[in-house]
Amino acid sequence: MPEKNIYSSFDKNQLLEEKQKLTEKYNEFKAKNLKLNMMRGVPCKEQLDLSNDMLTMDFHEIHSIAKDGGDCRSYGGLMGTFEARELFRDLTGADNIEEIMVFGNASLNIMYDSIARSMILGVCEGATPWCKLEGSKKAKFLCPVPGYDRHFAICELFGIEMINIKMNPDGPDMDEVEKLVNTDPSVKGIWCVPKYSNPDGFTYSDEVVKRFADLSPAADDFRIYWDNAYMVHDLTENGDNLLDIFAELKKSKKEDMVYIFMSTSKITFAGGGISALCASEKNIKYISSKVSIQTIGPDKINQMRHALFLKDKAGVKAHMDKHREILKPKFDAVNAGLEKNFSGTNLAGWTNPNGGYFLSLFVPENCAKRTINLAADLGVALTPAGSTYPYKKDPRDSNIRIAPTFPSVSELTQAVDALSVCVKLAYVKTLMDSI
Ligand code: PLP
Repeated sequence: MPEKNIYSSFDKNQLLEEKQKLTEKYNEFKAKNLKLNMMRGVPCKEQLDLSNDMLTMDFHEIHSIAKDGGDCRSYGGLMGTFEARELFRDLTGADNIEEIMVFGNASLNIMYDSIARSMILGVCEGATPWCKLEGSKKAKFLCPVPGYDRHFAICELFGIEMINIKMNPDGPDMDEVEKLVNTDPSVKGIWCVPKYSNPDGFTYSDEVVKRFADLSPAADDFRIYWDNAYMVHDLTENGDNLLDIFAELKKSKKEDMVYIFMSTSKITFAGGGISALCASEKNIKYISSKVSIQTIGPDKINQMRHALFLKDKAGVKAHMDKHREILKPKFDAVNAGLEKNFSGTNLAGWTNPNGGYFLSLFVPENCAKRTINLAADLGVALTPAGSTYPYKKDPRDSNIRIAPTFPSVSELTQAVDALSVCVKLAYVKTLMDSI
């Protein structure tokens, strides 16, 4: 955020005058009794409707029997329905379906279980469970920031210390990642949302992915938690290209180092989709041996329904093109609104991603919390301040996550205008506090 902005040269009287003007505008919005929600990345109704045919499609007995002979209506099939595994293999570019395990409705659940398993039983055969590590050996995680609040919540719940890593437009600060991962055996993992990161919408560059693949971790049980939640969620025709980390790791036989998570939550139904883990056969073998104690098998009927509905990579792309038509105007409306309200002011910076579900708005230091509270009083709900950082502590109190998918274009336009007044008012108030 640049130091110089429209208010930099204002004296106390000018600030007071500006505060009055902004308060009037703020009260005009208040009189409108707005009820707008840009808080969480949820699909809107039109997006959910795109998958309605999945609920009414023919699902005869012939579809119940998977290609490998498994009956989707019955117990078993711990690894997931054959066709669903093929679908995710197609999407990830994995070499064979033995590297794919398909689960239930939430990839977050797979991530949570991965951490819980590592804490209680260990990451792999022979590894010390993290709960047995004491003092300076206790497990730590690297967290590119700003990042996804629910990743941080898992670590916090299990008492895993989180270390902030600066996020750049081409991915995490790899100098810092290499320094910590390659020297400190207590660093057991790093959270990554490599394509259209939550909340910035950044995609890791080829160089960053290659540097990840070249890591030489001090801990044998270090894993990269590659949460590819937005792998097919482009807002432009061709979208960003993300290098295949699994293939890169395989070149140096280091494929045990990554867990790749995905789901159809934002392809079909959020909360009613299917999720998957892509990992080395060795990792999958260990993980499935533990999951076999947790469950007899996943919901294979929903997996088969998804496989029949989405078909293959081309089918997913065609479906996501329909999402893009709905979402692109929303992201454009937010960008245009921010441009209109802030261009030439140097009061805010924001990202304008080619895909995903979010963008980041950066407001002047010490103003995010105040802005979000002011917006909440106007009826504009935003992700709580600090949420995008471990322990909910944004060191600069400057990042605001914007989720444009749920409201309509006209609601978004109104919400951004209201939010912009809140940013300015929060900043003027903060400046006056310091006089
Ligand atoms: N990972 C990221 C980065 C997300 O942004 C989200 C949801 O917003 C999820 C995972 C949740 O995915 P799922 O519904 O598969 O649990």
